[in-house]
Amino acid sequence: MFNCALAMEIRFSPEEEAFRAEARAWLEQNVPRTTRPDSADLRARRDWDMAWQRCMYDAGWAGISWPREFGGRGATLMEQLIWYEEYARANAPDVTTGFVGLKHAGPTLIACGSEEQKAYHLPRILRGDVVWCQGFSEPNAGSDLAALQTRAEIDGDHLVVTGQKIWTSFGHIAEFQELLVRTDPTAPRHAGITWVICPMDTPGIDIRPIKTLAGNSDFCEVFYDQVRIPLANVVGALNDGWRVAMATLSFERGTAFMSEQVRLARRMEELVALARHPSGGDGRRAIDDDEIARRLALASAEVEAMRAMTYRSLSLAARTGMPGAEASMIRLFFSELVQRIDVVAMEILGPAAVEGFATDGAPRDEWAERYLTGLSQTIGGGTKEIQRNIIGERVLGLPR
Ligand SMILES: Cc1cc2nc3c(=O)[nH]c(=O)nc-3n(C[C@H](O)[C@H](O)[C@H](O)COP(=O)(O)OP(=O)(O)OC[C@H]3O[C@@H](n4cnc5c(N)ncnc54)[C@H](O)[C@@H]3O)c2cc1C
Repeated sequence: MFNCALAMEIRFSPEEEAFRAEARAWLEQNVPRTTRPDSADLRARRDWDMAWQRCMYDAGWAGISWPREFGGRGATLMEQLIWYEEYARANAPDVTTGFVGLKHAGPTLIACGSEEQKAYHLPRILRGDVVWCQGFSEPNAGSDLAALQTRAEIDGDHLVVTGQKIWTSFGHIAEFQELLVRTDPTAPRHAGITWVICPMDTPGIDIRPIKTLAGNSDFCEVFYDQVRIPLANVVGALNDGWRVAMATLSFERGTAFMSEQVRLARRMEELVALARHPSGGDGRRAIDDDEIARRLALASAEVEAMRAMTYRSLSLAARTGMPGAEASMIRLFFSELVQRIDVVAMEILGPAAVEGFATDGAPRDEWAERYLTGLSQTIGGGTKEIQRNIIGERVLGLPR
C-alpha cells in the first residue's frame, strides 16, 4: 500500500552535489557530437550506440546502478537520479540497442546467474561488445506470459528448443537472447518454465524482421527449430524460470522513469517553442488559441507532477530498499501523458502535420516519428490495462 506516513524527502548532500558537478562536466565534454544513424540502418545505429557505451565504460560511467564488483559505478539511488537528470540535460543519447543487456539481462545475471555466466557476459555487456534481446512474448503469450508454449527438451547436456517468439526488439542485431522456454509441460504453468541464455547465431534460429507503423524494423519474429543450447546456459535452475523472469521484469520496469521525467520536460519546452513560432502566411501562432494554450499549460503541470511522483517514489525506495508497485502508477501516468503531448503537437502543427508523414504513413520528421512511436508506450513493458491491474491489486489493495 502507498504509505503516506513516509513523506517525500529529497535533499542533495554536498557529496551528491559534487557527484552532479562531476557528471555534468564529464557529459559536457564527452556527449557525442556526430549524428546518430537513423533507425533505417540499425547496424550503423548499433555501432554508434556501442561506441558511446564504450566511451562511458572507459571513463567509469557505464552501468551506473551495477555493483562495483561487476564493473559498474555502484551509484546510490540519489546518484542515479542525478546522473539521469544530467544525462537528459546534456541531451546525451540513450543506448537503446544496448537496453536489454544493460537494463535487464545484466542485472538478472547479477542477481541469478552462475559465477561463470557473470564472468563471461557482464564485462561484454558493460563494454558495449554485445547486444542482447528479449525472447519472452509469443503470439499467444504477451500480458499472460505464463501461457508461453516454446518447448525445450533435455538431450544430454543440451536443451533442444522448438517454437516461436514475437516482438523481439533488436533480435536481428543481437548476439544473445534472454529466452523463456517451457521445460516441463506437465507442471503447473508457472512452474515448468526455464530462463536460458540463447546465442542468436545457433543453427535452427530464423529471424524475420517486422515492419512497424513507424516504418522501421526494430522488432522481429524469431522461430526456433531444434535449436541446441547448452544446459550450462540456464540461469537459475531448470523449471525455476518464472522467478528469474520476475526479476528481469522488475529491472525492466524498475527505475526507468528517472530519466523519462527529464526528457519529457525537455520535450514540453520544445513544444511550447513550436507553439510560439508563427506559422502559415498570416503569422498565426498556435499558442494564441486559448484551447491550445490551456492544454499546453495542463501538460506542463502534468510533467511537473510526474517529476514530483518520481522524487516521491525514489525517496520511498531509498528508505525501503526497493522500487514499489507505485512504479506502475508513474509508468502508466508517463505513458498516457506522452501520448497526450504527442496529440497536442499534431494539433499545433495543424495541416502541416500531414507533411510529416510519407504517403505510406512512415514518419518524415521528428514530431511524426514521436507521435507514431508514442503509441507503443501503453503496450511495451506491460500494457496500460495490466498497469491498472497492478495498481488496483498491489497499491489500492482491491480484490483480484
Ligand atoms: C515497443 C515494444 C517493444 C517490445 N519489445 C519486446 C521484446 O523485446 N521482447 C518481448 O518478448 N516482447 C516485447 N514486446 C511485447 C510486449 O511485451 C507485449 O506486446 C505486451 O506484453 C502485451 O502483449 P500482447 O501484445 O500479446 O497483447 P495481449 O496480451 O494479447 O493484450 C491485448 C489487449 O488485451 C488487454 N489485456 C490482456 N490481458 C488483460 C488483463 N488481464 N486485464 C485487462 N486487460 C488485459 C491488453 O491490455 C491489450 O489491450 C514489446 C512491445 C512493444 C510495444
